[in-house]
Amino acid sequence: NTPLHELDPDIAAALDAELHRQQSTLEMIASENFAPVAVMEAQGSVLTNKYAEGYPGRRYYGGCEHVDVAEQIAIDRVKELFGAEYANVQPHSGASANQAALFALAQPGDTILGLDLAHGGHLTHGMRLNFSGKQFDVVAYHVDDAGLVDMAEVERLAKEHRPKVIIAGWSAYPRQLDFAEFRRIADEVEAYLWVDMAHFAGLVAAGLHPNPVEHADVVTSTTHKTLGGPRGGIILARKAFAKKLNSSVFPGFQGGPLEHVIAAKAVSFKVAASEEFRERQVRTVDGARILAERLTAPDAREAGVNVLSGGTDVHLILVDLRESALDGQQAEDRLHEVGITVNRNAVPNDPRPPMVTSGLRIGTPALATRGFTAEDFTEVADVIAETLKPSYDAPALKARVTALADKHPLYPGLGE
Ligand code: PLP
Repeated sequence: NTPLHELDPDIAAALDAELHRQQSTLEMIASENFAPVAVMEAQGSVLTNKYAEGYPGRRYYGGCEHVDVAEQIAIDRVKELFGAEYANVQPHSGASANQAALFALAQPGDTILGLDLAHGGHLTHGMRLNFSGKQFDVVAYHVDDAGLVDMAEVERLAKEHRPKVIIAGWSAYPRQLDFAEFRRIADEVEAYLWVDMAHFAGLVAAGLHPNPVEHADVVTSTTHKTLGGPRGGIILARKAFAKKLNSSVFPGFQGGPLEHVIAAKAVSFKVAASEEFRERQVRTVDGARILAERLTAPDAREAGVNVLSGGTDVHLILVDLRESALDGQQAEDRLHEVGITVNRNAVPNDPRPPMVTSGLRIGTPALATRGFTAEDFTEVADVIAETLKPSYDAPALKARVTALADKHPLYPGLGE
C-alpha cells in the first residue's frame, strides 16, 4: 500500500505538475472539462481490478455481482437522461463507440456520408487514415459560405451516392444541426442515421439543445466533454439495434469493459440529471455567446479577428484568423503565454497547412465547471481579444488570467 509519491516519485511529480497547470491556467479547449472529485474517486477505485467480459447478468467471469450493479445503474441512468430505449456504456472512448456503431450499421466497402474533417467533422466520420476512411467508401458534405452545414448538399450527395449511413455530428462547428432534416433525407434514401453528439451531449442532457435520440437510429457520445464525466464513450439506440450493437462492442472490438470507468460514468449521469448541472450548461452556452460577441466587436475585427458563422448556439466558437497577422499556431502560442489553453483549428478552405491553420477553437465548458459567470466570461473574452491584437502586454494579461483562476479555485484542497 505504498503511496504513489513514494513508490513512483517521477509519475507523482508529473501528476502534481498537471494539477497545478489545470488550477493556475484557463482551460478553453472545447472538448475538455473537469470531472467532479466523486467521478475521479470511482474511476480510481478497486473496480479497475475486475474482469467482466459480457453484460450485466450475462458475464464470462465469476464475481461480477457488484460490477453488475454499477453497470446496470449506468445503463438505466443514461437511458433516462436522454430518453433512449437502449444504451451501451462499455466503449472505452468516443472513437471506440463510433467504430462499434459504424460496424453494426454497415459493412466494409459500404458508402458513408459525413461532414468533412476540414469543415468540422471528426476523424471517425471518414478521415482517410482512420478506420472509417480506410474501410468505407466515404462521401463528405461541407459547410457553405456562411459557415452552416449545407443541407442542400447533404440531400444531393445522399441521392447521388445512396449511402448506407448518414453521419450527423461534429468536433468543430458552432451551430445546432437540423436532426429532423437529416432524418427526412436518410428516410428518402433508405440510409441509417447515426448522430455523434460527443461535443454537445451535456447541452442535450440539460435541455438546451435538440435531442438527437428522437431522430437517429444510433447516437454515440463521449462522456468527458460537455457531459463532464470520465474519459469514455457510450452508444444509445432504438431497441431494434440492441443485439447488433452489443455484439459489435463485445466481442466485436473490445474485451473486458473498464468497470471503474463505467462506475464513474454512472456518477456523472447522476450529476448530469441535476439542476446544478443544467445551470452550469446555461453558463457554458452564455459564455460562448459572450466570447462571440466580444470577438466580433469593431476593435477585434480591426485586428483581423472574425468568428465563423458570426456567432454560436453551443459551447464553442471558431475564430477565423485569415485576415489577421497571426496564424493559428501563433495565436495558440500567444494565448498559452498568457495562461489560456486553446487549440488551433483549420477553418473551411484554410490556406495554411493542418499543423499551422488559420483558426482557433475556443470552448467554455471547463471554465463554466469552475464557476465562471457572464461577468468572468466577459473578462476572459477581453483578455483574448487584447492578446490577439498586433501588440499585447503579456505580463499584464497574464495577471488578469491569474486573477480569474484565483477567483474560481479548481479542486480546492487537492495538491496542497
Ligand atoms: N466524436 C467526436 C465528434 C469528437 O469530437 C471526438 C473527440 O474529439 C470523438 C468522437 C472521439 O472521442 P475520443 O477522443 O474519446 O476517442
